[in-house]
Amino acid sequence: MKDIQEKVFEVVIVGSGPAGLTAALYAARADLSPIIFEGPEPGGQLMQTTDVENYPGYAEGVMGPQMMEDFRKQASRFGADCRYGYVTDIDFSKRPYKLTVDEETTVFAKSIIIATGASAKWLDMPSEKRLKGKGVSACATCDGAFFRNEHVIIVGGGDTAMEEATFLTKFARKVTVLHRREELRASKAMQQRAFENEKIEFLWNTELEEILGDPVVEGVKVYNNKTKKTTILDDVTGVFIAIGHKPNTDLFKGVLEMDDVGYIITEGQSTRTNMPGIFACGDAMDPIYRQAVTAAGTGCRAALDAERYLTDAKDEEAIAKEHWHSS
Ligand code: NAP
Repeated sequence: MKDIQEKVFEVVIVGSGPAGLTAALYAARADLSPIIFEGPEPGGQLMQTTDVENYPGYAEGVMGPQMMEDFRKQASRFGADCRYGYVTDIDFSKRPYKLTVDEETTVFAKSIIIATGASAKWLDMPSEKRLKGKGVSACATCDGAFFRNEHVIIVGGGDTAMEEATFLTKFARKVTVLHRREELRASKAMQQRAFENEKIEFLWNTELEEILGDPVVEGVKVYNNKTKKTTILDDVTGVFIAIGHKPNTDLFKGVLEMDDVGYIITEGQSTRTNMPGIFACGDAMDPIYRQAVTAAGTGCRAALDAERYLTDAKDEEAIAKEHWHSS
């Protein structure tokens, strides 16, 4: 990264999922020569998905990693500079903003687009890790259709779990919700919808102990924390983990406005944050939709917002110079 040390960029994009790479495409086509630091998970959450069937334009579906490679190629074609690198620090105290990459390279940015995404929370069990993408998923919208007429379980008791359980009943023969307590955290309306759905069954005070099968899911071992009994559900072929998402925004805490969970708050329909020249897009600012296509949409908006900001900043600079010369 020696070639970019101390360089001042018009736009620096942090993160390389659909939001970051779409922002890169638009910024590159606007001649802003963006640089993208891809972060610890280049390509973002889609790198953990197999078939993506709901991204418009891919009539036959596409593998998540392939799709992200296509995004990267398209942005690079117009001059976006994608680099492996993890932004470890940003000095927000003066402009241009100073970014430290991998704790060693320093670059400056007139504007920054934050596209650091969110990460699904996992249970962190060895069998969950081993079977991820082989029947274990954290996204019912992405993977639900692969479980037609099958028995799937969903772990969690919040709104996401209820929403995903209800969604999964479109495909699955039976959906069993495993919740560690006997009371759901989800809103009453979401609970009601799930309770009224005949395909959804609840196992209360129940924890997932182990996911069985090799190389794909062929059952689960569950543990009732009240009765202390372990049971095997041997017809389960899909396991959905819905215990919440965490936006990857720790780096911006105390500087950018965020909600309680850590999603960056943007102004109205724009991607503007509370700091001038800093824009946020994708899952880092979207607690509701969290789809590749919606992330790409906000990435486009962030690049357009950054472009306008840079044009206005140039105009202001020119006016200030003119004023100085004439006075
Ligand atoms: P959440 O509200 O934090 O719920 C997470 C659930 O997972 C809780 O029931 C929790 O159990 C359980 N859980 C957490 N860690 C666990 C572990 N290690 N093992 C077993 N269970 C565990 O997360 P969310 O459902 O993703 O919702 C996040 C936010 O998005 C909420 O504000 C929600 O209202 C919102 N949301 C809204 C909509 C909508 O309005 N359409 C849809 C989805 C999400 P406990 O209850 O025991 O803590």
